[in-house]
Amino acid sequence: SREIQLAARPQGAPKDSDFALVDRELGQPRQGEVLVRNLFLSVDPYMRGRMNDVKSYTPPFALNETMTGGAVGEVIASGADGLSVGDLVLHDQGWRTHALLPAKAARKVDAMQSVSPSAYLGILGMPGLTAYAGLLDVAAFKQDDVVFVSGAAGAVGSAVGQIARLKGAGRVIGSAGSADKVSHLTGTLGFDAAFNYKDGSVTKLLREAAPDGIDVYFDNVGGDHLEAALFAFNTFGRAALCGAISQYNATEAPSAPRNLALAIGKQLTLKGFIVGTYSHRYAQFVQEVGGWIASGELQYDETVVEGIDHMPGAFMGLLDGQNTGKMVVRL
Ligand code: NDP
Repeated sequence: SREIQLAARPQGAPKDSDFALVDRELGQPRQGEVLVRNLFLSVDPYMRGRMNDVKSYTPPFALNETMTGGAVGEVIASGADGLSVGDLVLHDQGWRTHALLPAKAARKVDAMQSVSPSAYLGILGMPGLTAYAGLLDVAAFKQDDVVFVSGAAGAVGSAVGQIARLKGAGRVIGSAGSADKVSHLTGTLGFDAAFNYKDGSVTKLLREAAPDGIDVYFDNVGGDHLEAALFAFNTFGRAALCGAISQYNATEAPSAPRNLALAIGKQLTLKGFIVGTYSHRYAQFVQEVGGWIASGELQYDETVVEGIDHMPGAFMGLLDGQNTGKMVVRL
């Protein structure tokens, strides 16, 4: 197997020398194990947090060990009942070309004919469920709500905006980091309005895009985006606090939001969440979102980077906004 290890803990933005590519002999599966050839590796923002030596909801990656993460692959040798050669499986032994793992740590995917296996790392996987449960359960979305989502051209954000539209939002507004992404949101994904947060004050840009205020904010970014949403909220507004990517490479404490006290008078609900808590929603989510994909009502994008040696570059590119939709590495 060719694998990527963490060679050094990144200070600020990660760089090439923080990663090392190594070769490892895996051997054959023993009783109860399977050998998987990975087809696609997931590239996710939360991995940045695991590169720091701090306690979080996922433990830190160890130095000089292969990192882990979502992956989808094909069983090429099996010592386990229930999994056979050729089966497509989802597991967490990413950052490597091959994985030898207990069969119970791999979940067989009943693949939809119409989608690539990579969809199970994105729209039909963890990011898709994050969008679905975050919007419907955490933010308690209801019809006619005006919804604002940051990171709107990414894996989670693009699903949030479209689910809101399909569920009857009054208006859907997105922010993203380039003019191309902004026109993609309004042109292809059906957002009512979008802006490039690099064009000026987020508070001002959001006020222009949502002159009558917002009811729901799905936060992928934190910082000045959260501050802008607090200003824009209508009474009884609700925020699903999903991510704070503007802070993942930070070496100093954030300077925003400075207006949290607005939550009192506006009677806001600000609720953080972790997708794992909503795994009971998976079946309903796949049924509903899978249906929208099949009918063509919901679109999803993937940015595909080729080869295990480009996995660190894909990860650095994700933090830099080089992806539209889900970032994956194809092997
Ligand atoms: P994305 O596909 O959205 O990729 C990350 C995007 O973040 C980039 O494309 C970039 O787009 C944007 N970005 C990077 N830096 C900044 C910045 N300083 N300010 C604003 N935007 C920035 O990733 P995901 O969809 O996988 O994840 C989105 C968010 O959801 C992340 O915060 C992630 O941590 C969180 N998450 C949380 C989960 C949970 O259980 N709570 C589960 C899954 C994800 P741009 O060009 O627009 O800048």
